Amino acid sequence: MDNVDYIIIGAGTAGCVLADRLSAGGDRVLLLEAGGTDRRFWIKTPIGYGRTFADPAVNWKYQTLPNPGLNGRSIYWPRGRGDRRLEFHQRAGVLPRDARRLR
Ligand SMILES: Cc1cc2nc3c(=O)[nH]c(=O)nc-3n(C[C@H](O)[C@H](O)[C@H](O)COP(=O)(O)OP(=O)(O)OC[C@H]3O[C@@H](n4cnc5c(N)ncnc54)[C@H](O)[C@@H]3O)c2cc1C
Repeated sequence: MDNVDYIIIGAGTAGCVLADRLSAGGDRVLLLEAGGTDRRFWIKTPIGYGRTFADPAVNWKYQTLPNPGLNGRSIYWPRGRGDRRLEFHQRAGVLPRDARRLR
């Protein structure tokens, strides 16, 4: 750990942006992610959202506690699992080359 300047836990949306900015400035960054890679067919495909919505490989699939405001019901609470480099592209339905122009 002596050879890194920052340790970021979670390569989600914020973690990836932070790692990108810090490393661009020359800092050495260790980015740790509990999930896997997002290099999957259904993540790269705009219509693949429906396939990732409940896929445990890319989704933590949380469930909320019973909520009095929902008449005691618990609801499904999807949370992305794994690095998020392409999530924006998928959600927005744009290709990586378009997203690069937006940076
Ligand atoms: C199915 C789905 C669709 C969405 N669609 C949109 C959309 O269209 N537009 C929009 O603006 N937002 C959308 N969102 C919301 C958006 O993805 C989140 O608001 C955003 O990603 C939150 O960013 P974050 O960095 O806070 O957390 P996350 O991006 O969730 O990142 C947290 C990361 O930390 C990792 N992690 C957790 N615990 C540990 C641990 N102990 N050790 C290591 N790693 C760990 C997780 O695996 C995850 O990768 C969507 C979310 C989901 C789940």
